[in-house]
Amino acid sequence: MDERRKPLIAGNWKMNLDLAGATTLAREVLQRTARMRTADICVLPASPLIQAVAKVLEGSAVGFGGQDISPEEEGAFTGDINARMLLSLGCQYVCIGHSERREFHLETDESVRAKTGRALASGLIPIVCVGERLAERDSGATFQRIERQITVGLGGLSSEEMARVVVAYEPVWAIGTGRTATPAQAEEVHEYIRKLLAGMFGEVIASRTRILYGGSVKPGNARELMGQKDVDGALVGGASLSAESFAGIVECTG
Ligand code: PEP
Repeated sequence: MDERRKPLIAGNWKMNLDLAGATTLAREVLQRTARMRTADICVLPASPLIQAVAKVLEGSAVGFGGQDISPEEEGAFTGDINARMLLSLGCQYVCIGHSERREFHLETDESVRAKTGRALASGLIPIVCVGERLAERDSGATFQRIERQITVGLGGLSSEEMARVVVAYEPVWAIGTGRTATPAQAEEVHEYIRKLLAGMFGEVIASRTRILYGGSVKPGNARELMGQKDVDGALVGGASLSAESFAGIVECTG
């Protein structure tokens, strides 16, 4: 981590929990992280649970947000939710282009770009996910894949817009598999992403952009991962469903 960038630890609750479970987890996260000031913290509950979580977290230092938004403003898009709905619940963040959205909902770099633009225009902070599949890593295509995801997914944003974007590098082979990228593997890609951003938006914006690592992050591996120069926090799936392990990861930023 670089001192100029405050780390962000984001918990992606995915399609887990129910009203009671989400409320309880939010309370526990709040209690366990109450004195932690070394990172920004947020949780991303499933949409129907956001309002209840918002009630618990209101006025606290723990932010919250959605797991996806429509690129459209509003209208006949059954099942989708828009940025205004998230904002009206008090959300600050939205995850965009998670590999599970790319895989199961056929999201593309182009749709990621459209959603990112919509989030920014609405005042949400987009956490834009990129990452290669195992076959791409094995065939030496990691950087090529990341380059397209970054140049298309964030292409054409203004510097002012990019200054509000968080990037998350999540190698698909490390998500929910228990197989974490080594700190060196993570740093290599994070450094590459920052170089791409410098080429697109200039050194100043690139040096200020938070690039999170995601993929089986736990309290036991978080410190070493976030000790890398270009790793500015974590997007946490499984380990964010326990307040103890989530807080344990936040603690690693201190
Ligand atoms: C994720 O869903 O973004 C993620 C990184 O999951 P996990 O921590 O479970 O690998």
